[in-house]
Amino acid sequence: MGKKNNQISIIFWGVRGSTPCANKENMVYGGNTTCVQVTIPQSDELLILDSGTGIRNLGNRQNGNTKVRGRIFITHPHWDHIQGFPFFKPIYGSKNQFEIHMPEQEDGGCKEILSGHLTKTFFPVTLEMIDANLKYVTQSPEKVEYDGYSVEYMLANHTTNTAIYKIEIDGTTIIFCPDNELEPEAIKAGRDYYAKLESFFEGADILIHDGQYSLESYEGKHGWGHSAWEIVVDFARQAKVKNLFITHHDPDSTDQDLAELDQKLQRKYAPFFNTIELAKEGTQLLI
Ligand SMILES: [Zn+2]
Ligand SMILES: [Zn+2]
Repeated sequence: MGKKNNQISIIFWGVRGSTPCANKENMVYGGNTTCVQVTIPQSDELLILDSGTGIRNLGNRQNGNTKVRGRIFITHPHWDHIQGFPFFKPIYGSKNQFEIHMPEQEDGGCKEILSGHLTKTFFPVTLEMIDANLKYVTQSPEKVEYDGYSVEYMLANHTTNTAIYKIEIDGTTIIFCPDNELEPEAIKAGRDYYAKLESFFEGADILIHDGQYSLESYEGKHGWGHSAWEIVVDFARQAKVKNLFITHHDPDSTDQDLAELDQKLQRKYAPFFNTIELAKEGTQLLI
């Protein structure tokens, strides 16, 4: 069995949006796509958010464990959120157990979507070839209690049914929202959805939010499902979020671009948050 933790922690295994980018100018913030691990105090269960290519490194860390169990909450099945799944080695251990959760999609529930993606046409491994005991859960938004934490979600403003997961662990709230388009005009116009979203975010301890673009690069990309960081910062301030981590970095944003933005965020907005920074692959936050 795995080691038990006494503290909540968050590990960023992948913070890149859209596609992995294995270029040397991306290595500081990281080139793997979305995957975040949350550790639950006194639990050896793996809690994983999304299975982008970052999940491969997470899986490789489990080598010493003969019995691995956990839950993977997938926000939505866009490639950058599921591409790492067949490279997550613990799914090939027959003693391991995982539940895979995903909101219902137009083409079906969690199992239909994953098996549709893992066919011989697209990849050599199919779901039938996976040895671990896997359960597929088509998740509904209502709060569900698990061992030591609860999960609920609200739908994002994205191009397919996409969860914004809220995880609560002993009074600490972590919101995971890697793909969500905050539309400046609709927010200004007071559209209902944004009032609901603001109250969903209200007072969150940790918000991990899509900020793939700047207002400048967002021009011409309205409706693509991603946010400009300026709007994310304003929205999070409005919702009194305590710690904001911006993620889903554009594959064309270099380390230099991101480091400059990181400094700017801290210079301008540090007084309004306990933490405001860009998510960086390999970082572990202790809460
Ligand atoms: Zn994405
Ligand atoms: Zn997406």
